[in-house]
This record gives sequence, C-alpha cells and structure tokens, in this order.
Amino acid sequence: MHNLTIAELIKGLQSKEFSSVELTQHFLDRIATMNPGYNALITVTADQALRDAAEADRRLAAGNAPALCGVPMLHKDIFCTSGVRTSCGSKMLDNFIPPYNATVVENFEQAGAVVLGKTNMDEFAMGSSNETSFYGPVQNPWDTDCVPGGSSGGSAAAVAARLAPGATATDTGGSIRQPAALCGITGLKPTYGRVSRWGMIAFASSLDQGGPMARTAEDCAIMLSCMASFDEKDSTSIDQEVPDYSATLSKDVQGLRVGVPAEYFSEGLNPGTEKAVRAALAELEAQGAEIIDISLPNTGLSVPAYYVIAPAEASANLSRFDGVKYGYRCEDPKDLQDLYTRTRAEGFGEEVQRRILIGTYCLSAGYYDAYYGKAQQVRKLIQQDFERAFATVDVIMGPTCPTPAFKFGSKGDDPVAMYLEDIYTIATNLAGLPGMSVPCGMVDNKPVGLQIIGNYFDEARILNIAHQYQQATDWHNQAPEGVTS
Ligand code: GLN
Repeated sequence: MHNLTIAELIKGLQSKEFSSVELTQHFLDRIATMNPGYNALITVTADQALRDAAEADRRLAAGNAPALCGVPMLHKDIFCTSGVRTSCGSKMLDNFIPPYNATVVENFEQAGAVVLGKTNMDEFAMGSSNETSFYGPVQNPWDTDCVPGGSSGGSAAAVAARLAPGATATDTGGSIRQPAALCGITGLKPTYGRVSRWGMIAFASSLDQGGPMARTAEDCAIMLSCMASFDEKDSTSIDQEVPDYSATLSKDVQGLRVGVPAEYFSEGLNPGTEKAVRAALAELEAQGAEIIDISLPNTGLSVPAYYVIAPAEASANLSRFDGVKYGYRCEDPKDLQDLYTRTRAEGFGEEVQRRILIGTYCLSAGYYDAYYGKAQQVRKLIQQDFERAFATVDVIMGPTCPTPAFKFGSKGDDPVAMYLEDIYTIATNLAGLPGMSVPCGMVDNKPVGLQIIGNYFDEARILNIAHQYQQATDWHNQAPEGVTS
C-alpha cells in the first residue's frame, strides 16, 4: 500500500479495496520501524490518526466522503495543530501545544485527511540541510550519510521513504524545492498569497509560503487543491478562486515556450546535475515545447538580498519568543532583563541567533537604508527580471539546486557555502512566483531535481508540465533501497 500514490489511494479507499484504518495502521507500523533510522517525524499521533481513520471509513461507507477522505498525511512541524505539540524544530517551542489549527491543517481536516504526525525541520525553517533542528538531523533515505536538504527535510525524507504518501512543507527561500530535489520527490511552492500563512509559524513573512510534497505532480495537484484557499485571517492571502488543479494535468505541452536562464547554469553547478536537467529539457522539446535562452541578470544578487530581508523579518517575528507568553522559559530569572536574555540565549540555536543578530543589525537606525532599503531595491530588480522574461516565455526551467545531497557536516563551518545551496530557488521567493521541483535524474546514486518556475498564479500550468514530464519519464518512480518492499 505504501507504494501507491495519493491518487491511487483515493481510488482504493473509495472502491473499498482497503479501509482507512488498515492503511493508517500500515503507515504507522512503517513509521514505528523505519523512522528511528531517518528521524523524519518528531511527533507521531497514532491514537488520533486511528480514530480519524475510523471516522473516515464511516464517511466512505456512507458515500459522502470529501476529496482526501481517509488518506494519511504528515504536517511539517511549523503548522500549528490543535492539541498537538508544534515545535518548529526549536527548543524554544518544545513545550508548545497550540490551542488552534493552522488554516492549512484545517483545510486538510475538512478534506478528510488523516494526520499521522509532524515532521522534523530546521529550527524555525532556517537551513538547507536539517542540521539545525533541536531534534537532531534527518537522514536522507537515498544515503543516510547525506543530508535530506532543508528546511522541510523531514517531510521530504518521510515521503521518499514512503512513511506517508504526502506531506505539507513551507518554502521561504527554497525549503520545499531543495529537499524535494535532494530526496527525489516532487514539491511545489505556490505563488505568495495562494496558501494561507495563518497558524504557520512565521520566519520571513513576505517570503514564507506553504505547499505540498508528494511523489508525483498529480498528487501535488490533489494536495494543492485542498491546501490553497482565500483566508481573511491572513492579510496577504489573495482572494482568487482555487482551480481544480487535477483537471488540467492531461493537456500536452505543444508550443509551450520554456525560458532557460544562462545564470542558472553557472559555475558551481555539478556537471551531472546539468546533464540531467538538459536531458529533461530535451524531453520536453521532444514533446513539442520550444526551448528559449533567456537571461535573469540580477540572479547573482538574490542570495545577498535574501540574507538581509529574511533575517530582518525573522528578527522581528522571533521577538515574540521571550519566555513570558508561551514556550521555553529559563530557570530562576533574576529580573525581567535576565528572563529575556537567558530564555533567548538558551532557547534558540546557533543559526537562529546568527539570523537574529544579522537582522537586528540590518534594521538598526544607522544601517537601515544601507542594508534593508538597498535589499528591497534589489528585490524589485529581481522581480523585473522575471517580468521581462515572462513577456516572452510561459515558464522558466533550470536546476533546483547546484549539487545532489551532500554529506553531514560538510558545510557546517561555512554558513555562506550553505546559503549558496538556494542560489536557484531564492529569487522565486523574492519575486513571489510559484516554483516546483521534479525528479529528473540521478548523479552518484542520488536524485537531481528539475525546477519549473511559473508566472503568478500559474500553478495549474507548472503542475500540468510536470505531470506530462512524469508521464514520459520514470525518475519520480525511483526509490531508495529497501523502501518499496
Ligand atoms: N535555506 C534557506 C534559509 O536557510 C531557505 C529556508 C526556507 O526556505 N525556509 O533561509
């Protein structure tokens, strides 16, 4: 059952080939035996899952089941879940049990999904390797000496290891696409404003966006149809109808104009990765797409601009964690000042503290214009690069990240080397555009991702292209050793 896609599971449940209780128990058993080797889940909600599965079976029997009724799912531990610890990968929230559900969690509940648990992640979603989690790193199922990517590494590893057919994730600078690429699965970061951020613990509010991770584009389409919604509780949510993303998957790509930016094939790109991505482009060309060389000249400025804007927003967002209202509190504070400083020094890890320092510095009175103001100007230039490109092409494609999964500790001492991991994904967040990663090859037995970037609210198109690509190729069906049996 664990080898079936979400689309197949829905069919199987509806035709009563298996019950949701059987399916849920099957995944819970796999989690119990396999998760200790990956550390992909940090909370398992077995009892609740089985209760929800029994309820799903009743609804399925009654014949009025909603879209995802009885389908097991995981949530990244950044989404608030009522009554279930939501840690955001941090000691700061290790004891935090939200009294409410994030809108995304609510949407899955309405659709009848069964939540198996919460996935590991980089602390406050800061990282590209899952090494910054308070709960320890996640192992990549393809090679347990390697990172799964981050920050949604737990979600990506869990889906790759078939501990669940799908998982939610978030992407601020690449955290859906990069771990999807490194774990050989499919992931989509929607347009900014498409998926509600309410109840999703904030990292950098102008960049954060939730999205689906699954093995296929078809499954991502099913998940996004449920995840996306207009939400009055999120002031940046956009009031636009949510299409049925599954309805347009079968269109062909004849005449599609694919822009390939020279800057995405820069120095530092692994030659094997480049070869795989070029082969994917050739496949789409064979299906009738037109490949057009383009330039996004300000790409090189995206990482520096991001590492001003994201830490600046993070430093403001994370100021709420002070030991007073909820979360971690230091022992025996001497006075209020001591309570604040020790709570934050003890509750936050090193990378989070680094970002708070950078962000606070960039926002300080004397430096605001020179750093934050300048970064916002650069952000505008990056948006304009994309606007110009989309005047002549329908989508943009390139690699998701420069290399396949790397070894634990190999970038640990050099934050800049780690930051460059997102060189091809970050510009999309700065512009607010949707982007997707699709498995497109293997290098040294490790998966490689093709990135598809669309224009605003063009999720249906990129899902359609990814689906067409997956109809003709088999990379998304490859599995790490030992997980299919
Ligand atoms: N790797 C990037 C960072 O560390 C992006 C993380 C994310 O998208 N959440 O900030």
